[in-house]
Amino acid sequence: MTDRSFRSTLTGSFSTPCAKNPTVAMMEAGYAKAGIDARYINCDVKPENLAAAIAGAKAMEWAGFNCSIPHKIAVIDHLDNLAESAKIIGAVNCVQIRDGKLTGNNTDGKGFLASLRKVTEPKGKTIVILGAGGAARAIAVELALAGAARITIANRSPDKAQAIARLLTENSKVEAHAMTWEGEFVVPEGTDVLINATSIGLGDAEAIPAVKISSLGHAAIVADVIPNPPMTKLLREAKAQGCQTLDGLGMLVNQGIIGAELVLGAKLSPDVMEKTLATLFRAQD
Ligand code: NDP
Repeated sequence: MTDRSFRSTLTGSFSTPCAKNPTVAMMEAGYAKAGIDARYINCDVKPENLAAAIAGAKAMEWAGFNCSIPHKIAVIDHLDNLAESAKIIGAVNCVQIRDGKLTGNNTDGKGFLASLRKVTEPKGKTIVILGAGGAARAIAVELALAGAARITIANRSPDKAQAIARLLTENSKVEAHAMTWEGEFVVPEGTDVLINATSIGLGDAEAIPAVKISSLGHAAIVADVIPNPPMTKLLREAKAQGCQTLDGLGMLVNQGIIGAELVLGAKLSPDVMEKTLATLFRAQD
């Protein structure tokens, strides 16, 4: 008899549609490199099946799961505990299962923060965020909790930017401002970090948010949440203006690393995960 175990630890993702989500390839590359016997199952879960999918994960003793569109808010009703920033953000994308109890976290903003910290510490910084959707909200909350001094949220729908600014004011010491984004956005002088948290640029290397290119140089660092293609037109223009740039691939990889730490207590290597994604994204060109 061999003492080898043929039972892999189970993790995965619940979303719909899910076929274009490459997270499974990134996570399984990370697990393999770390020598962890775990699987990451990419599941297409329709909204009406979320409760059954969660019950299934519990019944099969999964270690945890990610959830993406459209489940990030709905999943909260099924959890036993919520991490602090997930509570403030009001959305969960990573769930740990321990002894049948579910704890919700949000790694969207934490992944961005980990990526940003490779180049600068957010404490005391002046930050401008373009967009006010789920990614912008998660990033803004994490930056505020990390001690950013000023955060301005610019969005074409001003009510969403105002809602995030209010949330930051109520839950942190940051000085938060909301702006209506109309026409070409002029980056204010003295900006430490400009972040594109809109969906502009996803799958289109020539798409760029309406920003006055010559004002990009007012930002020391320009970051983009778009993981594919990683070198967006915004980042190319920012580089040409002398800014330091940060791509969305780093945010995605760091989310995977933080998720594996929460769900499996494992440390994954970023290199193999980044390489896997970069190869996949190049193959899609
Ligand atoms: P949402 O749909 O919640 O928000 C989209 C935002 O983009 C809104 O603020 C919207 O403005 C704005 N927007 C979209 N089109 C335009 C336009 N033409 N002009 C001006 N503003 C526009 O999406 P998410 O926040 O969930 O995701 C945003 C992006 O972040 C996605 O592309 C996603 O792939 C990426 N992402 C990357 C991650 C990573 O790890 N790298 C993780 C999570 C997300 P309005 O409110 O006015 O509609």
